[in-house]
Formats: sequence, structure tokens, C-alpha cells
Amino acid sequence: MIRQKRKQKRPFHVMIIPTLGCPSKCAYCWSSEVGSPIMSIETVREIVAWLQDFRIDPVTFTFHGGEPLLAGADFYRQALPLLTKELPQLEPNFALQTNLWMLTPELADVLAEYNIPIGSSLDGPQELNDLQRSEGYYERTMRGYRLAKEHGLQVQFICTFTCYSEQFKEDIFNFFMSNDLTLKLHPALPSLRSDEPDRWALSPEKYGELLVYLLDKYLENMDRIEVRNINDYARCVFTGRGTVCTFVDCMENTFAVGPDGSIYPCYRFVGMPEYVMGNVRDRPSQQDLAQSPAGLRMRAFKDYVDRECKGCKHIRYCRGGCPYNAIAPTNGEIKGVDPHCLAYKRIFDEIAERFNQEMMGSMGLEMGLSAKTASPSKENRPAIMPLVRKLASNQ
Ligand code: SF4
Ligand code: SF4
Repeated sequence: MIRQKRKQKRPFHVMIIPTLGCPSKCAYCWSSEVGSPIMSIETVREIVAWLQDFRIDPVTFTFHGGEPLLAGADFYRQALPLLTKELPQLEPNFALQTNLWMLTPELADVLAEYNIPIGSSLDGPQELNDLQRSEGYYERTMRGYRLAKEHGLQVQFICTFTCYSEQFKEDIFNFFMSNDLTLKLHPALPSLRSDEPDRWALSPEKYGELLVYLLDKYLENMDRIEVRNINDYARCVFTGRGTVCTFVDCMENTFAVGPDGSIYPCYRFVGMPEYVMGNVRDRPSQQDLAQSPAGLRMRAFKDYVDRECKGCKHIRYCRGGCPYNAIAPTNGEIKGVDPHCLAYKRIFDEIAERFNQEMMGSMGLEMGLSAKTASPSKENRPAIMPLVRKLASNQ
């Protein structure tokens, strides 16, 4: 197993949502809102004042949306120095999630000055991407991508797999590999703002199959592509702890601030009044947020996971998955864990089983057994040990 010398990811995360507005109209979107206001610099000052005595831990601020670049260059030119200079005790780090359409040379300069890594979205080849996202999306995002690269910005894409695009998984994988792009995937969720919430959603069964497919493709092509989620799942199994928000108790460490200064447990809840935990103007303490109805609901989810997942061998690093996935579709009632549990179990089991089998195989060989007896592989599948070595060397 990988030793845990890896530097801990920054556990304190504050998402800033300058607006829920977005110029795109992606078919399966659940998070944008027409006519959403844009955060003022005054509100950023209030965020700074709120965080002065909130907690002393290194923080990552992620600008998310909606489309955060709608706030414009002036907003970032003022917000970034405010957050950096006024909160030195938190050693702020930044990230930004954007479709890149609104990126201008001016904005790119400001973001480059703070070395901000960018996450963007592409669902695969142009035709497929534009069918799922919107006509002309691909061109506009790629224009922004080129501009970002010219300014030395780092960009990684998230690929949303829907029940439709999953049928083209090979084309999508090859698209990312041939364009030299890291693949990070996201399963389409039921859209709570749509009349047909499940139209694009990827079922947990299909998501599990997709992850196992990608595990094989990744292992076959490790020198040519990186599949971030498979790294994350493998790290969970090999180190025994989660390294992304879905696989830790995010409720104690993640908060999101909406355009009007309302505080939520995560960007996914922004705009849902029942999940407002407080407002930055009132300078709530960690205790105040934890005692709010939304805070208590998040805590109740954690307790539920401790009870319901007790018998699961993956509980230590899975932690019931994403609370939003679990409680948003049931109007806040805690009736189950993240519906993707099935997919998580499938990929965790697959990785653990392959790892154990290869370990047993190599021990058998050392003891003088023949390769066939020592490694009774069910099928001819690519080895997982190179991935173990790769993750260990990146520690
Ligand atoms: S609610 Fe889900 S997406 Fe949000 S921080 Fe928690 S695990 Fe991550
Ligand atoms: S895999 Fe499922 S049962 Fe196991 S900890 Fe995760 S959500 Fe719970």
C-alpha cells in the first residue's frame, strides 16, 4: 500500500459564486439561473471580514457558478488582492471553474498573475459536445482555451457523461487522449430544475460499468493519458483515505458564498433557500453554521452514513459519497446515501480485487509456483501495478 507521505490536500475550501447566471444553455444543467445578480466587491470585503476570525487553516478559494467570468475583469482585479493581502494567515490558494467563453486577454492577465488553475468543461468531440451543451459551445470554449494557454494558464477539462454520451465512451476517451487532455469525468445528475429530471442522468449501474471500462483503457494507455477519477479511486483503495470532496466528510471543511453573501454547504446548494446557513455580513462562527438547520442536516447525513455504511468495507474512504447527490433529490429528507454508491462499490471492489490478485500472483511466483498457478487471472486484463507505482512516485 502507498505510504501516506503525500502532502495533505488543503482541507478548508471556500467556494465563491459571483453569479448563478450563465451564457450557455447546457441541456442537462442543474446549476444556472437566468437573471441571477452579480456579486459586488462590497460582498467580497464582507467575505474577508467574516473569515478574519473564522478558522486558521490554509484555504482554497474556488470561483464557481453559474459562469464566474460574467463578473468581469474588474471584479477579479479587486477581489484577488483583497483575499490574498487581507487574509495572509489563511495562505489563500485559488481555482476557477469556467466554460471560458468570457475569457478576455485582460482577464487572462489577472488570472495568470495569481497563477490560477482553471477547470473547464468539454463532453468530447465537437458534435457530441454541442448536442449536449449547446450549439457553438465547443468553438467558444476552445477559443478561450487557446487564449488561456497563450497566457500560460493551466486548464483541465471535466467531461460530463450522460446516458446518451456513455454510448460513445470510446470516441470520448480517444478524443481526450489524442488531444493530449487529462480526462476528469462527472456523471450527469438528475436536473432538479427540469420537467424531465432523468432525461440525461447517468444511472449508477452505467456509471459503474463506465468506470471499469475507463480503468482498463487507462491501464492500457498510461503513458498517453491521465484519468483523474481513476487516480482518485485508486488512491482511496491504496492509502485508505479519500482525497476528493466526494470521499471525505465535506461538511466540516467546505462552504460556498452566493452572490448576495449567503453561506451554503457547497456550490451545489447555492440558490436553494432551505440550505442557507447564514450570511457573511453576520460573521457567523463555525459553530453558528453547524447549528443552522442546513448545518444540522449535513451533520445528520454524516451520522446516517456512520450507521448505514457501517458494514461496508469502503466506508473509511467513501463516507457515503456526496451529500448533495443524496439529499437534494429528496427535498432534504435523508433516505439514503449517494445514489452512486453502486458505482463506487463497483470500482473500489474492482481495484482492490485486481491489486490483491496481482500481489498474490507475485508472491506465488517468488515462492516458485508457475505463473498460471500463481496468478489465476479471470481474464486477460491489463495489470494494475503500474498505476500503484505511478501514484506512489507522485506522492
Ligand atoms: S456536497 Fe458533494 S460536491 Fe459539494 S463539497 Fe460535498 S461532496 Fe463535494
Ligand atoms: S460504497 Fe456505498 S455503502 Fe460503501 S461507504 Fe460508499 S456509499 Fe456507503
